[in-house]
Amino acid sequence: MALIVQKYGGSSVADAESIKRVAARIVETRRAGNEVVVVVSAMGDTTDEFLDLALAVSDSAPTGRELDMLLTAGERISMALLAIAIKGLGQEARSYTGSQAGMITDEKHGSARIVEVTPGRVREALDHGAVAIVAGFQGFNRLTGDITTLGRGGSDTTAVALAAALGADVCEIYTDVDGIFTADPRVVPSARKIDRITSEEMLELAAGGAKVLYIRAVEYARRHGVTLHVRSSFSHNEGTLVVNAKDGEIVEEPIITGIAADLSEDKITVVGVPDIPGKAAQIFTIVARTNANIDMIVQNISSASTGLADISFTLPKFQAQKALDALTDEKNAVGFESLQHDDQIGKLALVGAGMRTNAGVSAKLFTALFDAGINIEMISTSEIRISVVTRAENINEAVRVVHKAFELDAEVEAVVYGGTGR
Ligand code: ADP
Ligand code: ASP
Ligand code: MG
Repeated sequence: MALIVQKYGGSSVADAESIKRVAARIVETRRAGNEVVVVVSAMGDTTDEFLDLALAVSDSAPTGRELDMLLTAGERISMALLAIAIKGLGQEARSYTGSQAGMITDEKHGSARIVEVTPGRVREALDHGAVAIVAGFQGFNRLTGDITTLGRGGSDTTAVALAAALGADVCEIYTDVDGIFTADPRVVPSARKIDRITSEEMLELAAGGAKVLYIRAVEYARRHGVTLHVRSSFSHNEGTLVVNAKDGEIVEEPIITGIAADLSEDKITVVGVPDIPGKAAQIFTIVARTNANIDMIVQNISSASTGLADISFTLPKFQAQKALDALTDEKNAVGFESLQHDDQIGKLALVGAGMRTNAGVSAKLFTALFDAGINIEMISTSEIRISVVTRAENINEAVRVVHKAFELDAEVEAVVYGGTGR
């Protein structure tokens, strides 16, 4: 008997009909002789709608304990409805909140980390022959006694953590496309489905903005050796396996695996920084105190006449204002001239393990963008990734031309089964 963890994203349980369809699929898996643990997200765009509501009742951006109380209600609705639907099909099912399922986290509201998983009640439900349904995205902190959330897209992490704790045979991530594609099929209809992808490549794609899998879930799966299978809840097609490349294993890797795009970052430029040792340290210490997650950094050469340089960096949009305020407070101490804030940038990431051994990848990337008249504003690289910043309005076009230049286009159009892309 296999133990299967299945995670259904919001687009797979968007309405009553979808919940019934998913319930039938779960019962089918159970009746085939498997133990089944299901992790479920909030219905459709519920989480975004709750966030809009919170903004509508308060002028200050809502955060913390009360926001987590609000957002976790979304998963609580879908878990109960799914359990009701499964019972309606004559199969025993029990639903659990994150805290009932033993998802113990630290106390950081909005981005809590899982510190322990104690799935005693889930195991008990399985032992009674029931399907266990667990609310994704939420946990519980023992110190504060409060409910937490794991960050947007966090149900993926719940599923992987449960799979690891229960020793599941596989963790299936059900979504509204047939797997992981060479680019977002909503942007590039000719994107091709990938059959197998290494976790290191998937990490780079997730970090680059491919929200099909949440980065922390991929990290967790890699660390705990959980096999991920990303597939559609709307079809029975095989999806994409995320595998750990074993040490020493030689795999023939494609030069380019995929392209991700991200519109969630802003750029801050510190203009006129004295080009002397210690200034970058000073600037990034100030920014670090605001807990900003800095992504790309570029420093230009200082002009000989002034001895001043500019330093630009990117960070998540919602962290930009705090960083700007902190830098402004220390303007005299650092001695820079001014700050520029750019909220219209897009980032494209080209990912592929085969880059390690292939020259000319960046030349081809830059040529494709040049031919399309798209200006590159920043560049950063890792061993298996090249990222460039462009104007936000050009990002989709950039993804399409680069996809074509690297001959990633498929013959048939990718199917997007549901979801709003929000
Ligand atoms: P869920 O509601 O199931 O969590 P998400 O909206 O979080 O679904 O993630 C699925 C979406 O991710 C797809 O509909 C697709 O638009 C987007 N996506 C972005 N990049 C990719 C990619 N490389 N492969 C597949 N889907 C991608
Ligand atoms: N409902 C949460 C979100 O929309 C968690 C998830 O779907 O994974 O971010
Ligand atoms: Mg998701």
